[in-house]
Amino acid sequence: MIKSFFISLLLACVVFSAPSFAGGQHDFSFKVSRGDAFYKFFYSAGLSGKLLTKLMTSDPRAQRLNNIYPGDKFEISLNDNHALKQIIFNPANDNPLFINYDGKRFSFEKSNIQPVGDVSFTVITINKSLNYDAKKAGVDAEVVKMMVDNFSWEIDFSRDLRKGDRFFLSWEGEKTPSAMIYISGRKTIALFSHKDSLGRKKYYSANGETLNDSFKFAPVKYNRISSGFSLRRYHPTLKTYRPHRGTDFAAPSGTPVYAPAKGLVKYVATLSGYGNVIYLKHGSEYVTVYAHLSKFAKGLKSGKRVKKGELIGYVGTTGMSTGPHLHYEIRINGVHKDAEKVKLSKKSIVPNAEMASFQKRAKQILTKLKIK
Ligand SMILES: [Zn+2]
Repeated sequence: MIKSFFISLLLACVVFSAPSFAGGQHDFSFKVSRGDAFYKFFYSAGLSGKLLTKLMTSDPRAQRLNNIYPGDKFEISLNDNHALKQIIFNPANDNPLFINYDGKRFSFEKSNIQPVGDVSFTVITINKSLNYDAKKAGVDAEVVKMMVDNFSWEIDFSRDLRKGDRFFLSWEGEKTPSAMIYISGRKTIALFSHKDSLGRKKYYSANGETLNDSFKFAPVKYNRISSGFSLRRYHPTLKTYRPHRGTDFAAPSGTPVYAPAKGLVKYVATLSGYGNVIYLKHGSEYVTVYAHLSKFAKGLKSGKRVKKGELIGYVGTTGMSTGPHLHYEIRINGVHKDAEKVKLSKKSIVPNAEMASFQKRAKQILTKLKIK
């Protein structure tokens, strides 16, 4: 399609000599289908091949019009004399390109802000599961994964979702939503996209913070690291070499242990090796483990949400342990990581200078959705 564009263009210039079947219309909207080329839309608006050549040779950015894909949109506006005024090229996965024409020359402007008013919504109503109901609503698996990765910091998808809960996705011409909003009878979580200085899109709540949390290095005030992460360590109790897939923080029995980031209590158990142990889940990827505890914090049980810095238990030497210490593990997608080396989740914040426009856009989306 792209390579043949110029050939088609030449032929088209010969065959059509600027037919004016545009009638009295001034504004034209087009959506690209398979096999479409930009010149077709140009001619449909009653514009000439000569003007098209002028446009295509006016600026290197015009070449962008040769790379169009199904789902991309065009708007062509004419003035009262039916002469070209403006072309808005709105690709499905990029910011819009505005091309203005003053009768003599073309000017190009790429916008970082989606035009307001072109917002569409998808509603996913939970009936079976997010995966199932999202697919039914026509939402890509990739977008569903992104929803899970973000919302898992506040929602436990395996137990919190109820029949009738809804997810609203707003779209503004990109492959990923401009907002993702969860609404249930119990809570509403609204996330809005924002691009950082490197152009990476992240989702922030209306106060400008991502839902994920930053981790504290150690969940306990410790004297020293008595044993680091190692794939081959001499085990004093078992008298054999075994991997040590955690970090041991030496501290007196009874020293409080705190959640290093917000999370969900997955298990509270007493096991033979780990002794009294807690598993916390943070978002969709992280699990942290706290072993050999002397006791658990009051009221701690699986399903409870904990805040960063919340007391979860106390250092001890239960299970297979030679002395009081906290055995701490970090697992990412099930893989044990070295707490002293691993790069962990970090909360992002919308920069101050961009906060006002970010919050204005968030408000506009909520208004369109009729959510307050
Ligand atoms: Zn250990």
